[in-house]
Amino acid sequence: MLGVLRARGTATSAYQVLEELRQYNPKIAPPTVYRALAVLSSKGLIHRLESKNAFIACQCDRHQQSPVLFICDDCGAVSENLSPKVLTALSDVAGQSGFALSRHVIELHGTCSYCATEIA
Ligand SMILES: [Zn+2]
Repeated sequence: MLGVLRARGTATSAYQVLEELRQYNPKIAPPTVYRALAVLSSKGLIHRLESKNAFIACQCDRHQQSPVLFICDDCGAVSENLSPKVLTALSDVAGQSGFALSRHVIELHGTCSYCATEIA
């Protein structure tokens, strides 16, 4: 499962993961895939892209940190950036308003440097 996401390297829906796994095991059921994705996600080995309803393999080895994800709206590339400063700032804001954070999902949409160069 993780192998499928790592091999694709781009945002992949649960359905696409299922389709790919079915090439090796035609009997695999959707709940199996959803459960496995949830486990991988909770361990930080993959990230769920809320805005695209898809998943991507974690690109770094610091799985416990919440990344800031840059999503290119042109080519769909997703890059992962660690920014402890951003997370600290968000935690501070939340703390001041008495809001208990359980998880961060930070997704920024825009144009990747590759696509930006193509346009220019
Ligand atoms: Zn792009």
